[in-house]
Amino acid sequence: ALSLFGQVKQIFDPRNLLNPGNLIDPEPLSANVRIPQLRRSPLAMKDPKFTLAVHQCTGVGKCRADTTKAGGVMCPSFQATGDEKDATRGRSRVLQEMLNGRLITDGWASSEVAEALELCLACKGCRRDCPTGIDMAAYKSRVLFEKHRRKLRPLSHYALGWLPTWGRLVTKLRLGALGNFALQTPGLSNIVRAFAGVDQRRPMPRFRTGASASHQHYELTAGAGSRGPVAIWVDSFTDAFTGGQLVALVNLLVSIGFIPRIITQDACCGLTWITTGQLDGARRQLKHALDVLTPIVQEQIPIVGMEPSCMAVWRSDAAELLPDDTRVPVVAAGIHTLAELLGSLNDWDPPSLVGHTIVAQPHCHQSSVLGWEADAALLKRTGANITTLGGCCGLAGNFGVERGHYEVSVKVAEHDLLPAIRAAGPEAIILADGFSCRKQVSDLEGSQAITLAELLVAHLS
Ligand code: SF4
Ligand code: SF4
Repeated sequence: ALSLFGQVKQIFDPRNLLNPGNLIDPEPLSANVRIPQLRRSPLAMKDPKFTLAVHQCTGVGKCRADTTKAGGVMCPSFQATGDEKDATRGRSRVLQEMLNGRLITDGWASSEVAEALELCLACKGCRRDCPTGIDMAAYKSRVLFEKHRRKLRPLSHYALGWLPTWGRLVTKLRLGALGNFALQTPGLSNIVRAFAGVDQRRPMPRFRTGASASHQHYELTAGAGSRGPVAIWVDSFTDAFTGGQLVALVNLLVSIGFIPRIITQDACCGLTWITTGQLDGARRQLKHALDVLTPIVQEQIPIVGMEPSCMAVWRSDAAELLPDDTRVPVVAAGIHTLAELLGSLNDWDPPSLVGHTIVAQPHCHQSSVLGWEADAALLKRTGANITTLGGCCGLAGNFGVERGHYEVSVKVAEHDLLPAIRAAGPEAIILADGFSCRKQVSDLEGSQAITLAELLVAHLS
């Protein structure tokens, strides 16, 4: 019947103008299906692993739902803008089209891809909350890597992506006072911000004057506690910028009976290189950190980390960046959060915090990679009245300080964090182990958030 219909149509529509390719001579069923097309795409054929990863998105759209009240993180940028291109799904679709090469033709450097990824906070919320395991933060790093491969990068990639290097340089050369003069003096600091690609509304952090935190406080680590040694892995931010987090941690560990040993060698996890897509640099940093940390783990000395996002690197990106390095799983298993370490002690109880109200902002990488369970269990034992926030603080490493991201960063903070702080009142304790989260609270609310170590040590009897 179709063939007869085709002959009749041919008489009345000899130039095949009406519904070409529909009923008569239709295209094969697979003609517009993405996967068969991908088999002809040079980009997709070159990188089947990445192609498979971005095609995990089934399009159901959980990433458009607001799940922060239930502890979800995904997807803060969509919650801020309400625009599909800023949802995990929208980004996945754009990356799929980039690999397909039919609608998006400029590959890694295409403007559509740049636009879709611009407001991704790299919070890793989707890595945990997306049912198919989309990890947009990792895909964004990969895109930035390919786009800028062997080319000059935006200035912010050198300023913020190499921040641990600059911090080490400043503390090693004892240039903290000079650095602070440049960062805090009006006019001069505006030039620094402009050069570094930092939003002019962002207050700049203060460098330590003198040596780095790990060198300044190294003498605190002598002791003879009965629980044996614990190595403290000081992240680059704690090491270079002002704050009492390291002293609090050392004092807490001593009070519990540990012998804290501060690791003074450089052992940066390369996180800022990862988030700016400088993956070769990240591998170099990771390999150097492995040289420092592996012998400590092999000596059976537990390592406690201070910055959740740095610890998360060992349990996520490090294995992806150095898949053949057998030291990565060894170090990943040997580094613990403070709550994990304390939770393993069955003869120690946290101080009572009955009567205190705590607003806890887990770092988004902690929620998504490390997990918050150990912290939640420990805090519960204190008897405090605890509000644990979902979502992201909105700063997310370099994202919130970069020029062009301020409004979205503030909007993300206004989703959960800032309203919760205001509702809890001025007496409430704001708990945040992440450097970014503490900076966001300080920048936007003028309040001081403290780490778990600072909280516990302040209430020891
Ligand atoms: S990104 Fe994940 S949550 Fe969003 S639509 Fe795709 S599969 Fe669903
Ligand atoms: S990393 Fe965060 S902001 Fe980016 S797509 Fe995933 S959930 Fe959204």
